[in-house]
Amino acid sequence: MSKPLLFRCNQCGGINRIPPERLGEGPVCGRCRQPIDRAATPVDLDDAGLARLVKSSPVPVLVDFWAAWCGPCKMLAPHITDLARRYAGRAIVVKINTDMHQQTAGALAIQSIPTLVVYKGGKIVAKQAGAVMGPQLDAFLAAHV
Ligand SMILES: [Zn+2]
Repeated sequence: MSKPLLFRCNQCGGINRIPPERLGEGPVCGRCRQPIDRAATPVDLDDAGLARLVKSSPVPVLVDFWAAWCGPCKMLAPHITDLARRYAGRAIVVKINTDMHQQTAGALAIQSIPTLVVYKGGKIVAKQAGAVMGPQLDAFLAAHV
């Protein structure tokens, strides 16, 4: 038996365990039956949604705190999407729009955006203010996967 991959359903937020050998069969969410996004494209969560996710996720969760007016956030976005795709099943990557959802950013005393945070087992294990890309971005997440 190969290690199952973990995917968060973009529709209902449910966590799905999918055996790698079944990934090619167009898997659907066990809870809401919507197709699983195998590219694990990062979605925007609100504060409550993020709190639920980091508490329940069996894999590390990387959060990109961003805002629409932030130039470096825009530059970073495609790199975050690419990172999520490459770590699909082994980590969950999500975003928080800090203009719309300020509670978590406030609690973490986030001063500048973009800020990246990795949660593991419900706790913060890494925090990085400012955009990092390429091998540096990879290493930031890889250290905790
Ligand atoms: Zn679902």
